[in-house]
Amino acid sequence: MSSGTPVIQAEGLRKVYSEGTPAEVVALRGVSFDIRHGEFVAIIGPSGSGKSTLMNLIGCLDTPSAGRYLCDGVDVASLDAAGLARLRLEKIGFVFQGFHLLSRMSALDNVMLPLTYAGVPPSERRERGLRALHEVGLDDRASHRPTELSGGQQQRVAIARALINHPPILLADEPTGALDSRTGEEILKLFKRLQSGGHTIVLITHDPEVAARADRVLAMHDGELKEAA
Ligand code: ADP
Ligand code: MG
Repeated sequence: MSSGTPVIQAEGLRKVYSEGTPAEVVALRGVSFDIRHGEFVAIIGPSGSGKSTLMNLIGCLDTPSAGRYLCDGVDVASLDAAGLARLRLEKIGFVFQGFHLLSRMSALDNVMLPLTYAGVPPSERRERGLRALHEVGLDDRASHRPTELSGGQQQRVAIARALINHPPILLADEPTGALDSRTGEEILKLFKRLQSGGHTIVLITHDPEVAARADRVLAMHDGELKEAA
């Protein structure tokens, strides 16, 4: 599963906030790693170690102060804001701790939303949305609103939405952080299943037990990254 060219290549990534001012913070101090297609990798580290900063770079939400990032072979330094937004839409499926679903829309409408932005015709939207809900085991919940779903079901809707454009990278920031441990376990099993279907998963967490479920763990500490034993 994890052969071939890396889907994520990071070389010497640095991120400095408020550079050159008294408030300057060096959040990343030259971070290098590769993630190959089909890998399930956890990035772990304590609060303030730079995990969110790194996630923003991996997710093409921000650009590094120095270093090089190739996202599925594309050098982000070559892109303007619009190009970065397009790359994000094509390459990254985001999953967050707080689900980020729109409460007045059905599960299916939430899942189809990225296709609406991409200009896909309604009949195809619906077909693909239902298929994505099927992939996460929620065929029978398409018309339910988020408030009518459990936390675990809401997170599965969010994962279906993240998958709808078939992005090569699924990027999850503390995806089990708002769930009880049994429900969190179901979500981790779903990630494992998606991985065996060929998806690349990058999971960011402060919880060593969650990280242990990945194939490989990268540990952030004070803006530096090390492969964990
Ligand atoms: P984590 O997600 O591991 O808690 P962060 O990436 O959020 O860590 O933060 C790393 C460091 O960068 C911290 O010292 C934090 O205070 C600082 N930081 C994060 N975002 C900003 C920002 N927008 N402006 C200034 N400093 C920031
Ligand atoms: Mg964070």
